[in-house]
Amino acid sequence: MGKVIGIDLGTTNSCVAVAENDQPVIIHNSEGERTTPSVVAFQKDGDPLVGRLAKRQAITNPANTVFATKRLIGRRFNSKEIELFKEKAPYNIVPGEKGNACIQIQGKVMTPSQISAYILKKLKQAAEDYLDEPVDEAVITVPAYFDDAQRQATILAGQEAGLKVKRIINEPTAAALAYGTKKDVNANIAVFDLGGGTFDITILKISSGVYEVLATSGDTFLGGEDFDERLINYLVNNFRNETGLDLRQDPMALQRLKEAAEHAKQELSSLDHCDINLPFITADESGPKHLKIDRLERETFVELCSDLFDALDEPVFKALDDAKLKPEDVHDIVLVGGMTRVPAVQAKVEQIFKKKPTKGVNPDEVVAAGACLQGAILSGEMKESILLDVTPLSMGIETTGGKFSVVIPRNTTVPTQESKIFETVENNQDFVRLSVFQGESPIASENRQLGEFFLEGLPRKAAGEVRVEVMFSLDADGVLKVTAKEISTGKQTQVRIEPPSN
Ligand code: ADP
Ligand code: MG
Repeated sequence: MGKVIGIDLGTTNSCVAVAENDQPVIIHNSEGERTTPSVVAFQKDGDPLVGRLAKRQAITNPANTVFATKRLIGRRFNSKEIELFKEKAPYNIVPGEKGNACIQIQGKVMTPSQISAYILKKLKQAAEDYLDEPVDEAVITVPAYFDDAQRQATILAGQEAGLKVKRIINEPTAAALAYGTKKDVNANIAVFDLGGGTFDITILKISSGVYEVLATSGDTFLGGEDFDERLINYLVNNFRNETGLDLRQDPMALQRLKEAAEHAKQELSSLDHCDINLPFITADESGPKHLKIDRLERETFVELCSDLFDALDEPVFKALDDAKLKPEDVHDIVLVGGMTRVPAVQAKVEQIFKKKPTKGVNPDEVVAAGACLQGAILSGEMKESILLDVTPLSMGIETTGGKFSVVIPRNTTVPTQESKIFETVENNQDFVRLSVFQGESPIASENRQLGEFFLEGLPRKAAGEVRVEVMFSLDADGVLKVTAKEISTGKQTQVRIEPPSN
């Protein structure tokens, strides 16, 4: 059996690893880097560029450079999240045939899965070059907070890249696995992951090789980009006050600002101040204009982002609550994601948990490391650790009056199967419509609709006399199958909630 590689398909950066002698090895890409920017660019008539090369030409080719596809994957075009993201994405986001968010480049509509596949292909190639053999199986990680559609779209991306996705695992669970196998621990741990686009907090219990996710929470729209955006705003406002010119009107200037802001943010993780220097950022009748900030204090950055730092609290306390633990019951905190290098983020973690996070885990690589260990377990190469993941969001169906009736509550361990019995509400009702939703609102339409199907040919009886059992089965990848059965006749219908491919 070939190697099963582990892939952290990140919003900002992706990473691939393989287990050798039970140890994770991070694989360099063809540019010699241990992580690959999750950026894909299309040039006129050229092959797509992926990774560093794509990122580098973003300034001159913003409309054809796709980044942060993970913010789009498996989402509806008309969702609130896409609405927000569309405003700042320099590339064109359009609805696909089935109403999913897609990307239009040079007149061609592509799904986020197709774009992600370019990144996966590059990582697959890197692994094949390193191992000197074909690789066709992978474990791919997703944020714990991903819903059914987002997971399925990620599986599709893998297939599109020629990879059989052996398992989808949650990023924090992967991180815990990499942490746990290193230390042979028995403890409650928190995995605190702040990346480029998403925030995840997961509380796990590790005991004798069993990894049990106690609770998971997060925010799919809180990450490094939001912090960059604050700095960009600051720079744009400063520049406007000085020159009267609006850099937001100039896509090329904005792209340069974006890079400079991210760079400054990163510098401020190790320095207490930095300079920003962007000569010839724009021009007017009087000639070229330069943007120059001589001393940007770390404090200023922290002030500009104070509400973003504070926004980290709520998901953490929600997860602790769900896990029925107090902050002091958590023995160790594993930091994941480039943004956890920000001192104010570390201070926030310390403030919440009243202890310092663990050292010695590389926040950029630990997720891919865990994924490849899971790959080695699945291929039988490594001894079993048992991962007990949970579903991050409640799943259920819409009932009378648009109410949401939960069948599988959030934080239930997967795989799982739950059923619930519903009665007809009208006389002679010969069918029921089953609308499947995922989310936490008691009002169905405020949650995400996963699918809809009908159970027909019910016996015609008085309201309430026909009983339908609805069964939800959730597999280890977190993918859902729903069955509805009329109890007196045994008549049933079943759907696998299909990936909305476009
Ligand atoms: P993702 O999991 O979303 O792909 P990463 O874990 O790679 O993201 O984190 C990317 C984010 O981390 C980016 O916003 C990047 O600017 C930020 N980052 C990386 N290194 C540092 C650093 N030294 N200081 C502050 N932020 C950093
Ligand atoms: Mg990540």
